[in-house]
Amino acid sequence: MKAWILDTPALATERPLRLGELPMPAPSEDELLLRVNACGICRTDLHVVEGELAVHRSPLIPGHQIVGRVTAIGSRVNGFAIGDRVGVAWLNRTCGVCEFCSSNRENLCEQPQFTGWTVDGGYAGYAVAPALFSYHLPEKFHDIQAAPLLCAGIIGYRCLRLTGLRENEWKGARLGLYGFGAAGHVCIQLARARGTEVYVCTRDRERHQALARELGATWVGDAQDEPPVKLDASIIFAPAGELVPVALKALRKGGTVVLGGIHMSPIPQFDYSLVYGERVIRSVANNTREDGREFLREAARIPVRTHTQVFPFDQANEALIALKNDSVRGAGVLVMDRVEAKVNHDSLHS
Ligand SMILES: [Zn+2]
Ligand SMILES: [Zn+2]
Repeated sequence: MKAWILDTPALATERPLRLGELPMPAPSEDELLLRVNACGICRTDLHVVEGELAVHRSPLIPGHQIVGRVTAIGSRVNGFAIGDRVGVAWLNRTCGVCEFCSSNRENLCEQPQFTGWTVDGGYAGYAVAPALFSYHLPEKFHDIQAAPLLCAGIIGYRCLRLTGLRENEWKGARLGLYGFGAAGHVCIQLARARGTEVYVCTRDRERHQALARELGATWVGDAQDEPPVKLDASIIFAPAGELVPVALKALRKGGTVVLGGIHMSPIPQFDYSLVYGERVIRSVANNTREDGREFLREAARIPVRTHTQVFPFDQANEALIALKNDSVRGAGVLVMDRVEAKVNHDSLHS
């Protein structure tokens, strides 16, 4: 099979991914073999490729938003059939026995595996994944639309959960989003459907700010602008630590700032008064499978529409460079030539 291989992390502009031919992986007894149709491109891929996340496997196939069809099934797998369309996300496997796994917090597992980081991912013709961590995908989404839901979508959903706003508090609440890439553009759709006013702070007037307006933001400003009202909660998707004091300044008492990224530049010192008033700063680490299933149900019900920029399979390095330059509108998706769904013009904005 064809696969993009990372031998040594390097800046995306140095094109660190190499296109190679590898033997097809064989599923172990609890795994599925998937023929990959599409794989979303996530900022975390960039962190892996550029070495901001430690190397756990080398050489490595990146990619953790995999949409594919089941072509082989391990002997102990239940609930999946040949031909099923499934999604594979970042959380690849957990130990199942540590204190976190035993208390509904498998996202914090002590011995986790991550797709496209500690095990091979989906920038390839085929991929294997544990059946218990694979998702049946709602028919509503075609392959390209579904791919960004698998990380950008699920993580955004968990970020919303960790704002601490309860079910009856979303209507009329004021939510801030800092950074408006793949995760932001899905998150705003969930929040708007729940009746929330969304204030978006992001750079790039042409792509990100315009998309935020199109998706119903109440107010849109530059990354460091102060929204006209105090916010009940905020999510920082941009990997920029300097936004933490900026977001705290715009937050009302008792509110929460959720940090949605796996990597962030250092957070500058700030005055205690910014966090006083029982304001909370918390990070989001991975997701549980329950988050994934709940999110896919809610996304299908709304329904969420992902705005994607499609990159042909041979353009993986270019896709990462575009992401690094902040020039992807919505979510980037690497697409195999045999993708089953026709590219929908509504989902293309580049
Ligand atoms: Zn565990
Ligand atoms: Zn991701």
